[in-house]
Amino acid sequence: MIEIDGSCGEGGGQILRTSLSLAAVTGTPVHFTKIRANRKKKGLMRQHRICALAVSEITGGSLSGAELSSQEMTFLPGKIRGGEYHFRTGSAGSAILIAQTVIPVLLYGEKPSRVVLEGGTHVPGAPIYEFFQRVYLACLRRMGAEIDSSLLRTGFYPVGGGKVVLEIRPVREWRSLELTDGGEKIGGRVVAAGSGLDPKILEDEVEITREKLGMGCDWKTETLSADSPGPGNVLFLELVRRNITELFSVCGEVELSRKVVAERVAAMAKRYLASDVAAGRFLADQLLLPMALGKGGAFTTLPPSLHTKTNEEIIRKFLDAKIEMNNRKDGTFLIEVKK
Ligand code: ATP
Repeated sequence: MIEIDGSCGEGGGQILRTSLSLAAVTGTPVHFTKIRANRKKKGLMRQHRICALAVSEITGGSLSGAELSSQEMTFLPGKIRGGEYHFRTGSAGSAILIAQTVIPVLLYGEKPSRVVLEGGTHVPGAPIYEFFQRVYLACLRRMGAEIDSSLLRTGFYPVGGGKVVLEIRPVREWRSLELTDGGEKIGGRVVAAGSGLDPKILEDEVEITREKLGMGCDWKTETLSADSPGPGNVLFLELVRRNITELFSVCGEVELSRKVVAERVAAMAKRYLASDVAAGRFLADQLLLPMALGKGGAFTTLPPSLHTKTNEEIIRKFLDAKIEMNNRKDGTFLIEVKK
């Protein structure tokens, strides 16, 4: 039984999700204490609870202590079974974070899986659907995973109600991921999407982002009306480079002005563009798990976040992979996952 102290490092939900996925894939029982100890509302929130229930259902395992707010839980995984699954957060809890928890598991199923997820698809503090599809899944496909996804409905915070469908085939052969050079820019666009909002907000968001970045006119801008049961807003900048697509997003919130939303997206993109690394900070923490399961590889990135360092610590408890983070002379990092 592996002991996971949920207060280590970042002390948030990712510790739980990474551990659940790896417990299932390696068939190792896991006991959690101090779950999400560093968060204001500690313990299991809906999204985390559904991740635990999902992994338990997929493996036919057993779970104790998985009630809402619980800070202690035990998971005894069974055998991974591919098939049809349907998971709902019943809130704006992120459907994308559930997807990232079950994908590594179902890649080891004995047959293909189809997973329907309902919840938030564009919520603060989690990857938005477009990041998941164009950045995260694109990297997994390069690593040998065969996964298709579609967004059937957008779910904004706080109403949620979004819907995503995944088709996952068992992985046949992993390939290493080499992302040391992002390559030259070949395209990019700034997109503001919303539901139940004054269209002027979306127009202002893309315009302010363009101004802040001082972009050339080859950047496309778009405003879209999202099909969502609740009101909401997302602004993202998608940057297509020769070797990678990166995407920077901020979800609008009641207390955030359109100017602040646009400034935040522009600041993230500017920092990334100035550094010339391949993977942004969010992608970096999300790549470690699939790379450590697969054939490893290497990528350049910005200084690792606490999420990245914590994820490395958790992965080390389950797998033999060696993850090295080396500071390069210009302050950027090379992260190597060695198998
Ligand atoms: P908690 O509420 O405990 O913080 P959580 O389960 O909601 O838990 P975290 O543990 O903070 O979430 O993990 C959030 C994950 O979402 C990380 O993998 C992070 O990289 C990713 N993420 C957050 N914001 C973005 C973003 N704008 N774009 C892409 N990924 C993001």
